[in-house]
Amino acid sequence: MQQKTVALVAHDHKKSDLLNWVKTHQAIMQQCKLVATGTTGTMLAERTGLPITRYQSGPLGGDQQIGALIAEGRLDALFFFWDPLNPAPHDPDVKALLRLCSVWNVPVACNESTADMLVTSPLFLSADYQIKKPQFQEPEQTLQTLKK
Ligand code: PGA
Repeated sequence: MQQKTVALVAHDHKKSDLLNWVKTHQAIMQQCKLVATGTTGTMLAERTGLPITRYQSGPLGGDQQIGALIAEGRLDALFFFWDPLNPAPHDPDVKALLRLCSVWNVPVACNESTADMLVTSPLFLSADYQIKKPQFQEPEQTLQTLKK
């Protein structure tokens, strides 16, 4: 069965919430290929023993690396416990990551209750369920339109 690729990201004040959530759903998480931003991934790997591919820390480009996975069609779901109460230096990257989830129809959970519902959906691990990939105009077509 093709493993789902799942990204885990939490801002500093939300890291303990994400850790507890991952522990609660560890049996499901260990069936997935996990990726994470640097600090989140290191913390989760240390505390749960789960294998996690770690990118740069969020403020250093990690959110954008996860965004690149989305743009390449290589991410099945994002669990992003972002912090609504504290400013982040990389707020534009946070917005960009959430925006790409909408652009490419990637399921994203930004709080614990949504994350619970997403991860317990029968569709979550289903090999039969594929995200409907939106069709966009190819760059060549855009150029043709611009030339007219
Ligand atoms: P971090 O990044 O896991 O390296 O803390 C998360 C973020 O701030 O996007």
